[in-house]
Amino acid sequence: MTDTSSAVADKIRCDACPVMCYIKPGAAGACDRYANHHGELVRVDPHIILERTVSHGGRLVPFQAGGDWDGKIVHGPSTFVTAIGAGTTYPDYKPAPFIVSSEVDGVDMVTVVTEGIFSYCGVKVKIDTDRYLGPETATVRAEGEAVGHVTTSEYGSQMLSLGGVHHLTGGSKKEGRVTCDTLMDLSNGKPVELTIDGGATVVVQAGHAPVVNGLTEERMRVGCGSATIGMFAKQWQGKIDEVVVVDDHITGVLSEHQAGKLLNIPDTGIKLKGRRSTPGRYFQVAEPGTGWGGTNISDPLAILGPFDPKTARPGLTMLMVSTTGEHAAYYQLDDGLRPVETEMPDALKQSVARIRENCEPALCTVLFMAGAGGSLRAGVTENPVRLTRSVKDALTRVTSGGAPVYVWPGGGITYMVDVTQMPANAFGYVPTPALVAPIEFTMRLSDYAALGGHMESVRPLSSLKDNAELLPWPRPGPIPGQGG
Ligand code: SF4
Repeated sequence: MTDTSSAVADKIRCDACPVMCYIKPGAAGACDRYANHHGELVRVDPHIILERTVSHGGRLVPFQAGGDWDGKIVHGPSTFVTAIGAGTTYPDYKPAPFIVSSEVDGVDMVTVVTEGIFSYCGVKVKIDTDRYLGPETATVRAEGEAVGHVTTSEYGSQMLSLGGVHHLTGGSKKEGRVTCDTLMDLSNGKPVELTIDGGATVVVQAGHAPVVNGLTEERMRVGCGSATIGMFAKQWQGKIDEVVVVDDHITGVLSEHQAGKLLNIPDTGIKLKGRRSTPGRYFQVAEPGTGWGGTNISDPLAILGPFDPKTARPGLTMLMVSTTGEHAAYYQLDDGLRPVETEMPDALKQSVARIRENCEPALCTVLFMAGAGGSLRAGVTENPVRLTRSVKDALTRVTSGGAPVYVWPGGGITYMVDVTQMPANAFGYVPTPALVAPIEFTMRLSDYAALGGHMESVRPLSSLKDNAELLPWPRPGPIPGQGG
């Protein structure tokens, strides 16, 4: 039960967010988080308390209690009060729903939990693939609505930036609703189909392999084409005259590359299309796509010009391989110095298999990012800036559903959290629209009092446990880093 309500006739008005729903008996509010249960306003989902031990193997969150941390969480060996199902208080000056005291190694601690309502939030998505998803800054859509954009790619991965206040509140009502649904589904570990203007359709699910244009991506590339030459040059020495590692970003050529030079691999007279960056490293050999090495080509010979007859000779051997080892072909030059594909020798098959072996499984990673530096702080303390300072001074530990977060340097409390580290369905929404995400602040009770905390609302951990759902940690489900 919560005190954030008032009754009109048999309806209850929920005031846990600015929407202020009137809720009929037996019905739920617009966000499905609160309901009218026999005249009482109740939070529909159970409040989650984590019980975990070191033997579970989870990533435990240390507290700044002083002295060496021995893995204990808030109270006893393994109890952590999350904000999941805790509810929200509105307006912000009201104390957070639960301010829970406990003792760790003789130090009085307090954890302040609330389900924050975030209009300023989004997700950063890392998709482990070399395949071309779309041009940088291209619009990313869900159900046809703009929900984000393609941002700068990282090594072996394509990156999307989704959500944010402009898509949530700055466009049409439908754009805001679809953006909210997309963020919530991704954050809750559900699959979401996204289409990229001028690019691919990709199904993204945190902790699972991406599906690009209907094909499940299996591997990240081992490195760029140049790095692949550097890694495997010695293994090719003496077995082949030339190797070309086809890559949309940097295609590598063994005989010209510094690795080949150091191993005294002779010139072959090969000629590559594209722009030569440094010896043996070529940019823009083809257009980006979903073919060999993230290019649009299906025939790798398309990136070669004619061999130089002054250097090349009939019988010269050449391996062409992609950065994941998924594509590979072996050629010999005929009398006209034209490459002719022939059966690949076993030794070279092994080197291609070695490239594949060194490619990590392709996954989607979803980091939820939000700013808790605004009004939410007032539910923690009467003097909000002191909470920010306390976080920056590492006196207050911030977690989200019990998972460790990264707090950005600079102003505010802008944090990122890996959603696969959180219990399932930790996220909700309100139709303003905005995301609802759990956030917990843990500190010494004395520090809490010093920063102007709502001391009158502090309650013991024992007062919560009977009405909460206890979950083991880590949560069951896909193991991050191991895919589906
Ligand atoms: S949307 Fe949810 S939290 Fe907001 S007033 Fe309605 S029931 Fe309460």
